[in-house]
Amino acid sequence: MDRPIALRDTLTGERVPLDPPAAAGTVRLYYCGPTVYGDLHIGNFRTLATFDVLRRALARFGYRVQAAMNITDIDDKMIRRAAEEGVATSEVARRYEARFLEDQAAMGIAPPDRMPRATEYIEAMVEDIAHLVERGAAYAAPDGSVYFRARAYPGYGALSGQNLDAIRVGARVEPEAGKEDDLDFALWKAHRPGEPAWPSPWGPGRPGWHIECTTMAARVLGRPLDIHGGGSDLVFPHHENERAQAEALDPDPFARRWVHAGLLLMDGVKASKSLGNVGPLRELRRRYDPMAVRLFFLTAHYAHPLSWSEEAMDAARAALVRVREVATRARAHLRAIAGRAGSEAVDLALDAQVRRAVQAFDDALRDDLNAPAANAVLFDLGRTINQAVGEPELGSEALARALGTYVDLWGVLGVDVGGETAVDEDRVRRVEALVSARQAARMRRDWAEADRLRAELEAMGVVIEDTREGARWRWQTERV
Ligand SMILES: [Zn+2]
Repeated sequence: MDRPIALRDTLTGERVPLDPPAAAGTVRLYYCGPTVYGDLHIGNFRTLATFDVLRRALARFGYRVQAAMNITDIDDKMIRRAAEEGVATSEVARRYEARFLEDQAAMGIAPPDRMPRATEYIEAMVEDIAHLVERGAAYAAPDGSVYFRARAYPGYGALSGQNLDAIRVGARVEPEAGKEDDLDFALWKAHRPGEPAWPSPWGPGRPGWHIECTTMAARVLGRPLDIHGGGSDLVFPHHENERAQAEALDPDPFARRWVHAGLLLMDGVKASKSLGNVGPLRELRRRYDPMAVRLFFLTAHYAHPLSWSEEAMDAARAALVRVREVATRARAHLRAIAGRAGSEAVDLALDAQVRRAVQAFDDALRDDLNAPAANAVLFDLGRTINQAVGEPELGSEALARALGTYVDLWGVLGVDVGGETAVDEDRVRRVEALVSARQAARMRRDWAEADRLRAELEAMGVVIEDTREGARWRWQTERV
């Protein structure tokens, strides 16, 4: 068992084995978490599910892991949202953090060991920024903002594989007047009226997003990180900037490897809240069992892009039914043959097949977390178990071993095989048919029919809101 897992490092492009478990000590895993100004979408959860599978795989291979993920609870969009609602920024942050935690639990994603909030580490960030200023890696602008001198860090651009001129062309030229260079980025943002602010040697203000992770990762886990992760849309500028700041503070490597989860694509374009092409996971959860969503994620290697479509989700939904049927059938059979001693040859043959499946499964995960390959092994194992159930001379213990392995290995991929389906899909389909019939009635201005359909939906416990993007619906009992 004491063989290492290899992961592809974004910085070198190479597969780097972790030390074997016995030599690795505690693996420090940090990945970038949500900015809690609204509900997260399915693309965000693809990243989180990736690191969930990684943690489970590491634990399976005997590694001790300390995982930390930040909660960004101060940010421009949050401040805007709070102003629109006339509430404190912290109220918006706590509300969406709570909703995020619910979504995370529903998706079967184990909470990381530590979830530091940015606002709880501001003093530490100020300390780090002050060190960077002392070292000449950063400077204060006349308005009290502090910027990082990107060019002063020799490795700048290496993580995203860009040279500085390419970055300069691609860089969003931010309006800050006090910057020495377009490439420089804010460590500290001087206070603007109406915004929350904290004290600092440069006057009141708030930290920039990048310094948050550099500071908290080091304080919460310690350096070097064994694995720094996040979505691949964070490689530039966020991780490039995190790395530059961290290594300007301490020249030793900030992270021993960088691991990035691929994008989720909607119609070939990145799923993004700001592009408005993806709804919150909360809406999807109403239509699809979260475990079907997890199975869908497993259809692509974590580092590759994955295209969302109704067809792909329908296939995942059908696959989940098959996966669970194997377990249900085997359990029922196990009850029926309880205590039965089987033929030794039959039992040994099943044991051997299970052992080969375990080997293939572990090899797949050790090879840069190849979940689609591991997934395929488990579908095969499901077929093996189905066949075994039909074998009259099978003993109950051999079947119990095979079933236990099947359930455990699906668990490593984050799929709970034991559960009942969490969504009444027939009911959801009926609701969606009525919602679109009502939409069609409204389009042809048949108000009587539209009202009749609304009443029918309400009788089913559905609340409808008509928005510019069309009708949205939710269950009456659902929190919004
Ligand atoms: Zn980060």
